Amino acid sequence: MNHPENLLDAVRYFSDLGVCDAYMRRIKWPGGKITCPACGSERIGEIKTRHLLRCKDCRKQFSHKVGTIFEDSPLGLDKWFVAVWCIANCKNGISSHELGRALGVTQKTAWFMLHRIRRAMEVDGSDHFDGPSEADTTYVGGKAENMHAKRRAQVIQGRGAVGKTPVHGVLQRGIGDDPSQVRVSVLGSETQAELLRQVRSRVRHGAAVYTDAASAYGDLCLTHVHKAVDHSVCYVDGEAHTNGLENFWSLFKRSLKGTYVAVAPFHLFRYVEEQAFRFNHRLQSDFGRFFRRCRLYGDRLSRRLQGWPKKPPSPRGGERSIRSPRSWSVSQRRRLRRSVARSGVSEKCSRSSVNLGFSSLVRQVYQCPKKPPPAGAKKPSRRTKGGFYESPTTAPPPAPPPPPPPPDHLRK
Ligand SMILES: [Zn+2]
Repeated sequence: MNHPENLLDAVRYFSDLGVCDAYMRRIKWPGGKITCPACGSERIGEIKTRHLLRCKDCRKQFSHKVGTIFEDSPLGLDKWFVAVWCIANCKNGISSHELGRALGVTQKTAWFMLHRIRRAMEVDGSDHFDGPSEADTTYVGGKAENMHAKRRAQVIQGRGAVGKTPVHGVLQRGIGDDPSQVRVSVLGSETQAELLRQVRSRVRHGAAVYTDAASAYGDLCLTHVHKAVDHSVCYVDGEAHTNGLENFWSLFKRSLKGTYVAVAPFHLFRYVEEQAFRFNHRLQSDFGRFFRRCRLYGDRLSRRLQGWPKKPPSPRGGERSIRSPRSWSVSQRRRLRRSVARSGVSEKCSRSSVNLGFSSLVRQVYQCPKKPPPAGAKKPSRRTKGGFYESPTTAPPPAPPPPPPPPDHLRK
C-alpha cells in the first residue's frame, strides 16, 4: 500500500509502530538525514526494540515525536495517526468521548489529543486576501428560548447578541479552480475599531469587500471597495452578498450543536480553527487533509492550555505565605493533594491521605502550626459539637403551643 485512502486502510496501515516511525521520519526529515535535536549531529543510531533514536555524539535518546505536536506523549503513533485522521476528515468534528471509545483511551486523554491536533490546525493568518472578500460576524451562545425565564432576564438585555461570544470571519471568494478560503477569529470586544482591524489585517487594501449593513463597516470605504447589502431588504444585490460566509457559519454551528454541544468561550477559538481547516481543504482527499495536518509539526502544546486556572504554588517551594486556600477551585485543591501525595512531604501524606481535610493538608505541607485557641475559650465538648446531644447547660425546649379552640359547631 502506497498510502491509505480511507479510515479502514489507515487503521490497518498504521497498526505497526515500525511503519508509523518510518512514516514520521519521512515527514519530519524528508531528505533522509536525521539530526539530533540537542546537538544537531547527523550521526544517529536507532534502538528498534524501543522505537527510539540515539545520538552517537551527545548520547541523548529521542523519539520520532520530538519537535511535533505529539512530543512527550506516552501514546503510540498508531493511536495518534488514527486520531488525526478522524478529526481531519469528520465533517462535523468528533467528540472526545467518541474518540476515546474508538481508541481505547480515556475521555480526558482523547480531549487533550484533540486539542493538540486543533493547535496544529491553526492557519498562519499573516497572508492577505487579494480577491473579492466577504466579512461578517456571528454569535455563539445559548438560545434565549431555551433559558429559564430568570436567567433570560439576567442575560438578555437589548439585542439578542448580548451575552454571547462574537466570532468574526473573512472569506475570499473562489478564484478559478481555487475554492474560497476563510479566516476566522474569536473577538474579545465587538467595537467598530476591532471589526475594521480584522478586515484590514486580512484583506489587501483596495480589494472589494462585501458586508451586511452593519454601521461598523462604514469606514471600510476609506481603504477598500466596500459594498453592503441590507438583509432586511434582500440577501443578494448583484455581487454584494455574504452567502459564502453564511455557508461557513452554518457548517460551524452544526458542529457545535451536533457534536460539541457546550464549548467554553476561552476554548472556542480552537473549535473555530478546526472547522476553518476542514473548510479550506475541502476539495482534497481524506489522505490529503491528513497529510497536510501531519506536515504542520511545530512546538508541542503546553500541558496548561490557554485559559486554564493558575497552578497552586509548589508544595516543595517551602513558601509560608500562600494565597488564601479558600479562594482555590476544586481542581486546584485536587491537584495540590495529588502533588502532596507524590512528593512525600510527610509520611502521613501518603496515598491514603488524599482524603485528608484540606486545611490540615495545607498545614502539613507548609509546616504552618495550628493556631492555638484564644485564652479563656472553652473547648467545645465532642458530644455537644454536632448538636446531636443536648448539653445540660442549655435551656429546656419551649413548651408546645396550646391546642386551638374547637370550632363553634363542636362547642356545647
Ligand atoms: Zn546529539
